[in-house]
Amino acid sequence: MGNSKIIIAIDGYSSTGKSSFAKLIARKLDYIYIDTGALYRAVTCFACRNGWIGEPSEENPCPIDTDSLREGLRKISVTFRPTGPDGKSETYLNGENIETQIRSMEISAKVSYISALPFVRKFIDGILHAYRKERGVVMDGRDIGTAVFPDAELKIFMTASPHIRAERRYKELQAAGNPQSIEQVLKNLEERDYMDTHRETAPLIRAEDAILLDNSQMTIPEQLQWIGGILRERFGLEMKAD
Ligand code: C5P
Repeated sequence: MGNSKIIIAIDGYSSTGKSSFAKLIARKLDYIYIDTGALYRAVTCFACRNGWIGEPSEENPCPIDTDSLREGLRKISVTFRPTGPDGKSETYLNGENIETQIRSMEISAKVSYISALPFVRKFIDGILHAYRKERGVVMDGRDIGTAVFPDAELKIFMTASPHIRAERRYKELQAAGNPQSIEQVLKNLEERDYMDTHRETAPLIRAEDAILLDNSQMTIPEQLQWIGGILRERFGLEMKAD
């Protein structure tokens, strides 16, 4: 049992620390890590660059030229390239590194409109499909345990109080040289959570068999200790110390 690799699906609300947590688990298990949010962000970046997202109006907060985007998706390639031996990777759009751009508030404000489009979800599912035959994968997103890997051996659903999430994200943006007011960050988180949980296709929802992790009051070492216990008891898996 201890030798067999599993699939770990991590879903949850925006800025609950899913990516950092998933990345660490992958590194400590020597698994592949896939940041599915980066794929939705890359498609959003592509649509913005081509002028397919118009100015917001009262009737439509995010007008999208869906015909052009649908056609444009035939011509894009989104890939991840490792940055070093620490398990981190960066996102490339048609060969260009777009990692910094996709984390901007402009993209964060639009991504949930793009991710609600069924043809965009189908396009990204096509990319993720390639990993379905793999073992030893940690994937984070909104629909991994429900739609992408419904048969994942371990599903985690992450949450934390909105104010704590906003504070963490605010500090991250500041550190990345992209400061925003905490009110703006909180508003974006709440809007995205609303849209992600209310869309028709593959909405964010806790899978019945997902274990809830509320990390409002937990440090990263505490979260690792928690998951370490589950991996050991349920699957006989040991994480590397470093
Ligand atoms: O995880 P991250 O915050 O980078 O995701 C950005 C957005 O991408 C989410 O707010 C959501 O709209 C969309 N997303 C999704 N399904 C996923 C991953 C992300 O709809 N599996």
